[in-house]
Amino acid sequence: MEIADWEKRYDEAVSTVKEQLGNVQGVFVAYNSNVDAMKHIRESDIKKLISIVGCREIHARISQYPREIKDPVDFMARLIIAMRDGKAAEVPTYTTDIHDWLMDNLVFDSARMGGQAGIISNLLATIGVKNIITYVPWLAREQAEYFVDSPNLWHPVLENGTLVLKHPKEAYNPDQKPKINWILEFSKGLKFGCAGEEYVVPRDNRLIISSRPKWIRIDMMPEMYEQLSDIREDIDGAILAGYQMIKEEYEDGTTYRDYVEHAVNVIERLKGCNPLMRIHVEFTSIQNKVIRKALLTDIVKKHVTSLGLDTVEVANALNVLGHEELAYSVINKGEDSIVSLYEGAVRLLKELELQRVHIHSLGYYICVAAKDHPLSVDDQRQALLFASALAATQATLGSIRDIDDISVGLEVPVYDQGYEDLIELEKYLVRRGICSAEDFEDGCISVYDHDLIIVPSKVVNDPVATVGIGDAISAGAFIALLAKMPKINECKITEVA
Ligand code: ADP
Repeated sequence: MEIADWEKRYDEAVSTVKEQLGNVQGVFVAYNSNVDAMKHIRESDIKKLISIVGCREIHARISQYPREIKDPVDFMARLIIAMRDGKAAEVPTYTTDIHDWLMDNLVFDSARMGGQAGIISNLLATIGVKNIITYVPWLAREQAEYFVDSPNLWHPVLENGTLVLKHPKEAYNPDQKPKINWILEFSKGLKFGCAGEEYVVPRDNRLIISSRPKWIRIDMMPEMYEQLSDIREDIDGAILAGYQMIKEEYEDGTTYRDYVEHAVNVIERLKGCNPLMRIHVEFTSIQNKVIRKALLTDIVKKHVTSLGLDTVEVANALNVLGHEELAYSVINKGEDSIVSLYEGAVRLLKELELQRVHIHSLGYYICVAAKDHPLSVDDQRQALLFASALAATQATLGSIRDIDDISVGLEVPVYDQGYEDLIELEKYLVRRGICSAEDFEDGCISVYDHDLIIVPSKVVNDPVATVGIGDAISAGAFIALLAKMPKINECKITEVA
């Protein structure tokens, strides 16, 4: 199919999905929301911070390369390393002390909703999906402020032991402290000196100080969990993210196994006896391999229907599942990395017993679906195209105000390079006799035990913001599929019978 034909498919997909969005009864979204405090570091800021903390201390700490931020010296060491190398980095901090220190000595320029579940909840509420039931285990007043003022957005609360739904701004826990991540951006060319060394930032980048205070738990209180079945009728599916915050061990003696078990229980409660309840997990990078593996083999496998991830995350997932070679060739950026990506997606689909795996990359999306997925490949393709237009809208505008904004994303042209990458995949599949060039034409290929759906995506040349685009892609495709899903509630059928 020529690029111009893809553009036509885009138009059809967006207008169809827009009309169908009202079919979605609702979605449950959990767990991770936080506040992102943004600060652009200027020369005067870095000089001031160096003079407060002291050059000699910072210099000594730089050589120790702190892996977590325990005090202002650790913070300054990692900031200077990131600025010196011009590299993006994310470093955890396990107390809220550094936040207080930064508020006293730096102050942020702006703040916004952060965290996959928070970003997705706001996006889905904004595009008008009926019931968005968001759940944040640590809903502080400051956190609640960053949820959009939308009448279709709810958070569960317990009132006299009964679960009720309220807007997050009316549902927060006044005793809860907020989880605030700091995003410190710096620009190429910024100059500063410390302990006799002169530094010049080689390229624009950012350091994220990610807040992981010890009260952070990916969990739900038992009374709320017990009544989760009461909201089942209001939703067609769930999007779950944030499992990367599970720790191996906690100070109170609990371990990751406890939280993995609770996570599975929540999923099973949400599903109840509805076989069409779709559960999507949005994967992310997880440094700790024990947790990464537990998420895949103990939470995702058997319990979840859909998995969303980017290319690096595919490699990370394959790695802990024992496919090191394939993982390496996915990230190798060689000619056949797209082929390895496809093979990797099939491995994940099979080994994790999923219904669909959706991979987003700059320029194209690949989805592999099980043969018994209730929707056709055409529906799956429309979902991907809708997701791409939504992502392009977000990249162009920074944030989406309502579903009609999607016309902005539709205007963005299909990315040439992504289109070329698909041709590479086509050559491979034809060479291996998996499909003919004609089969490949419209991006939907039926292979003997799965379906492959691939689309070239729309890429914005000069994006206003890139944070959360991956979340918009996965949530957009998943919601489009829910909108197309037949409505069968087995619990009801059984009751009637
Ligand atoms: P994040 O979690 O910050 O969203 P991910 O790596 O999960 O990051 O997702 C980033 C995705 O966003 C890429 O895979 C790509 O498909 C998409 N993307 C990145 N930049 C652009 C852009 N300028 N225009 C459209 N899509 C983009």
